[in-house]
Amino acid sequence: MNVPDIIIAIDGFSATGKSTLAKLIAKEFDFVYLDSGALYRGVTLLAQEAGLIDEGNNIDLPALRSLLDSGVDFHFTLSPDGNLLFTGERCIEKEIRSLKVSSQVSPIAAVPFVRAFVDNLLHEFGRRGRVVMDGRDIGTAVFPDAQVKLFVTASPEVRAQRRFDEMVAKGENPTMEEVRKNLEERDYIDSHRETNPLRRADDAFVMDNSDMTLHEEIVWTRGFLMGRFGILE
Ligand code: C5P
Repeated sequence: MNVPDIIIAIDGFSATGKSTLAKLIAKEFDFVYLDSGALYRGVTLLAQEAGLIDEGNNIDLPALRSLLDSGVDFHFTLSPDGNLLFTGERCIEKEIRSLKVSSQVSPIAAVPFVRAFVDNLLHEFGRRGRVVMDGRDIGTAVFPDAQVKLFVTASPEVRAQRRFDEMVAKGENPTMEEVRKNLEERDYIDSHRETNPLRRADDAFVMDNSDMTLHEEIVWTRGFLMGRFGILE
């Protein structure tokens, strides 16, 4: 199916399956997938490694700003497992998915200059067009003119179970309670922060995938795009 060169913005709460859907779309319609959350996670990892955030989530803001100003190089490399985030020569994909990073990413992502840093990178990537990007503020703030905006939701139980399974598959050993608590905390911080909080864009379409298979999701998306662009395939 011939989808035009557009930007597809996918937003929603944590662990609603946004990245899974975005990857499916990228594969099915030959788009480039960009995971904006990975960049916030990357900044969080570097901040933790440099000792710039303590257990109470107090952030050394001047030092974090200097770190970002010193020219952090983030780039994605395509692999058979999807996009991997690198900083310089170092692949940080595994570290950024840990519960340790998940537990502090939302406070870091609430810092306005961190958001400006990530937004710059996203705009740079987005200029290439034919991009599907997922996050919290893609359709509302990063690409408010995106031609297609989806807001993905799923029930809290389904989300917690999916994230739990994902982490176990990656060799982590979280309890269900830890996973649930982390999702709740991130949802709260992400939707209550001052700068570009998570919300559904007025022109975003909602997909509740609690009871959908991946096949149903892609069939839904295909139908949606056909309707939107008058594609008669
Ligand atoms: O999508 P993912 O769960 O990997 O995102 C990690 C965190 O990054 C989110 O909980 C949120 O705090 C932050 N984020 C954001 N804006 C985005 C994408 C992610 O604030 N566009």
